[in-house]
Amino acid sequence: MPIKSAQHCKFCNSNHLSRFKAMERMFGTLEEFDYLECLDCGSVQLDQIPVDLSPYYSNSTYYSFQSLNKSSPLKKILKQIRLKFFLTTGILSPIYGYWLRKLNPSFTASIADIGCGNGQLIYELYASGFTKLHGFDPFLDNDHSVNPHVHLWKSSFEQSDLTFDLIMMHHAFEHMEDGESILNSCKSKLNSGGKILIRTPVTNAEVWNEKRSLWVQLDAPRHLIIPSVEGFTSLCQRVGIKVDEILFDSDEFQFWGTSLYEKGYPLDKKLIRKNFSNMQIKEMHKKALQYNSEGVGDQVCFFLSKD
Ligand SMILES: [Zn+2]
Repeated sequence: MPIKSAQHCKFCNSNHLSRFKAMERMFGTLEEFDYLECLDCGSVQLDQIPVDLSPYYSNSTYYSFQSLNKSSPLKKILKQIRLKFFLTTGILSPIYGYWLRKLNPSFTASIADIGCGNGQLIYELYASGFTKLHGFDPFLDNDHSVNPHVHLWKSSFEQSDLTFDLIMMHHAFEHMEDGESILNSCKSKLNSGGKILIRTPVTNAEVWNEKRSLWVQLDAPRHLIIPSVEGFTSLCQRVGIKVDEILFDSDEFQFWGTSLYEKGYPLDKKLIRKNFSNMQIKEMHKKALQYNSEGVGDQVCFFLSKD
């Protein structure tokens, strides 16, 4: 039901908002939260943000904070060979995938990963040959360097006085309270010719339209803002950031995760095998590729640069 609200859409600035309820489902507490959906651009945002969000991240099963998996010297050599082969041929993609080949930063580029969790991604980039890596995450225990090339900062990205050639957010943007502020910070800390990469869920998703508050990537209350492609583009224009390319990169998670919630389960990977056959997962993968090609997958990769 539409409401008259003093709040504005954090993406397109419209005050034409509709309220709906969503429950915490990842851990299965079923605590209820109010969200606002923009009736103009379709983006959604959590209405009242809890002062302390750490209880919603502190569970030891939260996937981003498991201990760092380090590579042996031999594994590092193999990863470096594999990366060079992938960058040249597109074959043997490492787990961090297609976006790196598209951006093709130099091995000496300074790279920031905002919302880095335990830092596994930048560690993998280091193991594959990159040399200047910084991860930022407010939920880290403290600032520390894994080695002279990989630095993890508990402080927020906004507080850093470093600048970067590549600034990345892999499923971190939606955990931010203020998308405009973080995009402004990215812009001000981006070196000339630098690139910004933001991977985030989007409300263009067919699964959002169909399943609404059961959508696995709504993820109340951890996801504070979820843009539509239109809303995100409008925000970028306001901040003065250029959207170079938008690629839908959703996968089968949107289907099996949402289906677990529909059945009343929490998000437990052990339940995948019990609930879905290999054939069903394969079908979900195919459907995700189809949705991506139609622009209705549930997540995208925004490639951005300075205007
Ligand atoms: Zn809007």
